[in-house]
Amino acid sequence: MSQIKQCQVLVVGAGPGGYVAAIRAGQLGLKTIIVEGERAGGTCLIRGCIPSKALIHAATRFEHLAQHSSDDLNDHMGIRLTEKPKINLSQTIEWKESIVNKLNSGVEGLLKKAKVELIKGWANFSDAKTCTVKLSGSDETISIKAEHVILANGSSATELPILPFSDNVISSTEALNLQSIPKSLVIVGAGYIGLELGIAFAKFGSQVTFVEGQDRILPLYDKEMTRPIEQWLKKHNIEIIYKAKATGVEDKGFMPRLAYENAAGEKQTITAEKVLVTVGRRPNTKGWGLENMCVDMSGPFVKVDNQCRTAMKNVWAIGDLVGEPMLAHKASAQGEMVAEIIAGHKRAFEPVAIPAVCFTEPEIVGVGLTPDEAKAEGYEVKVGKFPFAAIGKALAMQAGNDGGFVRITACAKTQLILGIHAVGAHVAELSNQFALALEMRATVTDLVQTIHVHPTLGEATMEAAMATFGQAIHS
Ligand code: FAD
Repeated sequence: MSQIKQCQVLVVGAGPGGYVAAIRAGQLGLKTIIVEGERAGGTCLIRGCIPSKALIHAATRFEHLAQHSSDDLNDHMGIRLTEKPKINLSQTIEWKESIVNKLNSGVEGLLKKAKVELIKGWANFSDAKTCTVKLSGSDETISIKAEHVILANGSSATELPILPFSDNVISSTEALNLQSIPKSLVIVGAGYIGLELGIAFAKFGSQVTFVEGQDRILPLYDKEMTRPIEQWLKKHNIEIIYKAKATGVEDKGFMPRLAYENAAGEKQTITAEKVLVTVGRRPNTKGWGLENMCVDMSGPFVKVDNQCRTAMKNVWAIGDLVGEPMLAHKASAQGEMVAEIIAGHKRAFEPVAIPAVCFTEPEIVGVGLTPDEAKAEGYEVKVGKFPFAAIGKALAMQAGNDGGFVRITACAKTQLILGIHAVGAHVAELSNQFALALEMRATVTDLVQTIHVHPTLGEATMEAAMATFGQAIHS
């Protein structure tokens, strides 16, 4: 007979949505259990955000070292390596895993500190409040009865039936664990995950080609924003085959050959050591009894309201399971909110904007409306733009020559900031300042009159605000 446990809050999935919800519920004194079928940390910590950023960092370090050993004196800064750097990818992956392991045990420690019980195993629901967990590595099961259930089951890489995953046709998860650098890599899909990984492997020395269905990269950003990335890709001989449709793969175990139709409808093939498929992610809605829980769906996602309530009383859902944007910080914000609502606090998920960052080369940040989106919403807009090429700190960091800038979109009548976008090296670190400005309903004058530290990249934000009045000081 299986053991029976009872709790006030049962969280399913210990990704950044679920573990944050569980910690906050525990902090608020609610008897909480969290069930995780793989490792605490979820996609984000184990096979997503963190491992990809570790690999991107290693690739950038390697590329910089290679520049110092090149014959181009402009790249040296007076620092010269007499030998070219070498890379041992399996050691890089070991280093990346050490970071993942540290974060995984950190999350387990935080759950324990908040008095949350972590049960390792796969949860399966027979009705909305009753779940059976098959414990990992054992035949034992536990039944859990809960007053509230928070579903945070997350998402998985989409596998296309025409491109089944194998040793050579891989998803981002396997790409983050390759033991050697593929000489050639074809990436199907030039969204942010494909671009981040493709750029990292190009820096490691792979010959990278993208096969992209649309006529541009990163369609969520306007062309002005994506141009510096396109320029970087071009400079590094990375080809993007636009308006191309992958139609299949011939994979006999050595060099897979990807078949696709080009923009003219002609059948083409391209051969590479690995084919990486990054065509999006799908919510994990199958195989754990969601159909027994009487929740409503919205397309492939679980439908929730602005408090993350599903159609079933006291069943909540958060994160990638409930829709776009599929981002870790959105999942965490929803998780924290739901725990507080269960504890009796008044909360709703109504952010002014959810910031999004692509850790490409250079990086892109988008918070709020672009000028076109603002016009489509009926605003008369003023736009101020300031280039990093005129920012001393950017030049001192060799980060001013990538075509980067900060752009502010404001309401012409009220000066209210509607959106802040940036492209350039290290701009991800500016994203929280942008989000804060929008969340606090700052006006352009608020930004202009905020003293910005010199020398920093953030000075470009203040100058972009001045530029909306045509009064930037340094350009
Ligand atoms: P997940 O993190 O997917 O966690 C869900 C957890 O639930 C998993 O651990 C799973 O094992 C568990 N689970 C599911 N079903 C069950 C069950 N029945 N029983 C027990 N356990 C179950 N986002 C960003 O914001 N910034 C980035 O830079 C970024 N980079 C990324 C890079 C890559 C390569 C990838 C793949 C993703 C990236 N993301 C990034 C997206 C981010 O990882 C997700 O948005 C985030 O992890 C979603 O959190 P979640 O809690 O909803 O789900």
